[in-house]
Amino acid sequence: MTQHLMTINGESRDAAQRFDVINPATGEPFATAPEADAAILDDAMAGAQQAFRSWKLDDDARREALRLAAKALGDATPQIATLLTQEQGKPLGEAMFEVMGVGMWLQYYADLEVEREIVQDDDAAFVEVVRRPIGVVAAIAPWNFPLLLSSWKIAPALRAGNTVVLKPSPYTPLSSLAMVAVLNQALPPGVLNVVTGGDSLGAAMTAHPTPRKVSFTGSVSAGKKVAIASAADLKRVTLELGGNDPAIVLDDVDPAVVGKQLFSAAFQNNGQTCIAVKRVYVPESLHDAVVDALVAEAESVVVGDGMDEATKLGPVQNRPQFDRVAALVQGALASGAKAAAGGAALERPGYFFAPTILTDAADGTEIVDEEQFGPALPVIPYSDLDEAVERANATTYGLGASVWATDTERGEAVARQLDAGSAWVNTHAALAPNLPFGGLKWSGIGVENGPWGLKGFTDMQVVHRRKQ
Ligand code: NAD
Repeated sequence: MTQHLMTINGESRDAAQRFDVINPATGEPFATAPEADAAILDDAMAGAQQAFRSWKLDDDARREALRLAAKALGDATPQIATLLTQEQGKPLGEAMFEVMGVGMWLQYYADLEVEREIVQDDDAAFVEVVRRPIGVVAAIAPWNFPLLLSSWKIAPALRAGNTVVLKPSPYTPLSSLAMVAVLNQALPPGVLNVVTGGDSLGAAMTAHPTPRKVSFTGSVSAGKKVAIASAADLKRVTLELGGNDPAIVLDDVDPAVVGKQLFSAAFQNNGQTCIAVKRVYVPESLHDAVVDALVAEAESVVVGDGMDEATKLGPVQNRPQFDRVAALVQGALASGAKAAAGGAALERPGYFFAPTILTDAADGTEIVDEEQFGPALPVIPYSDLDEAVERANATTYGLGASVWATDTERGEAVARQLDAGSAWVNTHAALAPNLPFGGLKWSGIGVENGPWGLKGFTDMQVVHRRKQ
């Protein structure tokens, strides 16, 4: 059996303790990962600190290293994707796509031209705003897209001249261990390190004196703890947190077409996507037809082990999340909602939950107000569009939102009223390396991706040279 190891200062490293990694398709452990202790974390931080001295100096060398890292990863895609499916549960094709996404992000940041910001250059003075790397970055990632979301940190942080200590989720450590080992083939020792362990290891990273920046993706509750811990010594923070994305359907759409599109937008990665559609507002006149279309999709989609080629939706990723989805659905049903499709766990080993479409779930029901992060979608009728916009915005979340319309200009006018970091029309979760992504309100602080994401891994310095 392959022994999955951390990479610290360019070297493979085990730990005295190891923890089980579960395959969610069986509910059984299939491998173990090292549990980093305080001494190992200190070594990772020290390696990253040492590597920062030279890594920050040569932009061309960094660009070339990122290109080579993307190439090395490309060659290793099938092995890493297989590990990702085994530990995360997603279909193998989607896992392959995720690994390829990491390559895209590395390549994008290698190619990005960062323009100099010269504010003044005249007879009196030369004044430039310079973007300086911050230092060691603590990068903390969740389990839903462990590799891609890590690369949104690794690629811009390294390109900007920082060094990184990455901690994946304890539910999905193996693919990140494998990915970092491969990327290290192209990077100098210490530039990219990975430590694995539980939530307390993440807390130890945010409390550690070495990192000057914490880049965190995960839940709102953990994000708040990260912000508090980082404030103690004024570490910079970027927080990419949870969402409760609304989709508002306008009255001029074909409900059969939009119902199908909404199903994909809500159930991609089994609903375990920060920007999945998590509640749908539909005009009363179209409610039943949209529900019918969603139910048809829910009842025909193939749910199964991600390693089976036919599978479109895998299991819920872990036991606590499976229990949470089940509790939210139960709670909704108990308070008057109806399951038009699904409504319960599937009778089989592993964490499988039937794709669930809920009607009659009122505002105030937990599954409407909170992030379900799983395969269950409430459909809510509205009679007045302004009121639907108000209800969509009446939440502490503000990550993504979409409007579905045949008259796309009218749709855009509605989308612009939605309190969300990304507002889409006739699509959802349309992401790209060159677009900023982030949340309003409790969905986050700062953005990732594009030149904006790169700048989040820099401090500004004004260099002012008087000429007279
Ligand atoms: P989580 O917050 O439980 O864990 C995320 C990571 O943080 C893990 O590595 C975990 O070990 C670590 N962690 C937990 N407590 C910590 C602490 N006190 N200090 C430092 N690190 C700590 O989240 P999860 O369950 O892994 O992921 C699901 C959540 O992530 C959902 O809410 C989802 O919406 C959100 N998410 C957001 C985005 C985004 O870009 N906005 C993307 C994906 C997922």
